[in-house]
Amino acid sequence: MKKIKVTNPIVEINGDEMARIIWKYIKKYLIVPYLDIKIIYFDLGIDNRNFTEDQITIEAGHAIKKYNVGIKCATITPDEERMKEFNLKKKWKSPNGTIRNILNGTIFREPIIVENIPRPIPNWKNPICIARHAYGDQYNAIDILIKEKGKLYLQFIPDNKKKIKNFEIHHFITPGISMAMYNTDQSIYGFARSCFNYSVYKKSSLFLSTKNTILKNYDGKYKDIFNKIYQKEFLSIFEKIKITYEHRLIDDMVAYAIKSNGGFIWACKNYDGDVHSDTIAQGFGSLGMMTSILLTPDGKTIEAEAAHGTITRHYRLHQKGIKTSTNPVASIFAWTRGLKHRAFLDKNYSLKKFSEKMEETCIELIQSGIMTKDLYKLVYGNNTYENKNNNYLDTESFFIILKSHFEKKILKLK
Ligand code: NAP
Ligand code: MG
Repeated sequence: MKKIKVTNPIVEINGDEMARIIWKYIKKYLIVPYLDIKIIYFDLGIDNRNFTEDQITIEAGHAIKKYNVGIKCATITPDEERMKEFNLKKKWKSPNGTIRNILNGTIFREPIIVENIPRPIPNWKNPICIARHAYGDQYNAIDILIKEKGKLYLQFIPDNKKKIKNFEIHHFITPGISMAMYNTDQSIYGFARSCFNYSVYKKSSLFLSTKNTILKNYDGKYKDIFNKIYQKEFLSIFEKIKITYEHRLIDDMVAYAIKSNGGFIWACKNYDGDVHSDTIAQGFGSLGMMTSILLTPDGKTIEAEAAHGTITRHYRLHQKGIKTSTNPVASIFAWTRGLKHRAFLDKNYSLKKFSEKMEETCIELIQSGIMTKDLYKLVYGNNTYENKNNNYLDTESFFIILKSHFEKKILKLK
């Protein structure tokens, strides 16, 4: 079979543990045999990050910016235990955070829907995609304990020192707590543009949720900036492709999401996005079926990955020589989503078709009852857990069957 020619390169970022094992299979079974592609490769495995003093992560981020498509394997974010385990020089920062800061992007998390996997929320027929504003708010806040009586102020000192402003927050008579957080217009504008661009790309309606009735200035700013960008830059294209934008109060939005059939993008402030990513993941079934995309405000650059981590528990078994049944679908979709974006930028129809057929094959395979243990447990319940009748496949066997189904599918196309 002739390989599909991909003119422009993609940036591949390798990672850690079980996710790295899956990665090797994806390349061996699903990419190398079919694509004639130039890959700019970065090894972000923990040892190499330690060896390069994390320079490799920064280089990878800049390469994604340059080539517009990054495809990333899950990586370890070190904590105290990992520092000891890998004898690290430093507690290196989360690679995702570093890359996000370089690209200044927004994260979109989206489930892969398969008919026969039961969903705790059965009416969710179409994916709900969460866009999280991953900058500022509670994640860059100063939070303090108040231990004695006294007055708490918020003070603003302009650089010219002329008009210092003091806002009295509370007069503490008993102990308590306090917090100050911030965001910037620039970051909210970037967030808004990423969301509108992604809506157009996915042809999916967009909602923004805030609590602007309580936080009139803070959350009101989000509402105003989104509205301004919508009216000025996106209204006509939204009307043309028949999608809508709406701001909703967070309470109203949560209730709407639960009773909806899905099929929309939900722009969340940082904390809401953190929480609701997990609400949505559970509501749709499995972490092994959740993808994640980082998109820049201009809509030109994406980095795609699986939403799950390096699946350490499975890796421990793998290290002992035990075959695992790890679900590779979200990592495969990281590749197909990245490649689809390459196809979109390059107007490469064959690559677009290749990616779509790969995704369809994964979904049809699972729908035909061929799956890994995590999904098998969801379909048949926890009681039929042991694998006496080869009910579910080990990780590599899943790839071998997937590849043979994929080949049948593309042969039919010819
Ligand atoms: P995790 O790797 O997502 O795994 C947690 C559990 O979820 C697994 O033990 C497994 O449950 C299940 N699971 C996740 N993905 C699966 C898949 N594809 N197939 C089957 N089951 C799957 O989270 P973690 O164990 O908390 O984190 C491990 C490491 O990953 C940490 O070092 C963390 O820093 C890193 N991490 C990286 C990223 C990233 O790079 N984006 C994101 C999150 C975490 P069972 O054991 O019950 O089968
Ligand atoms: Mg969370």
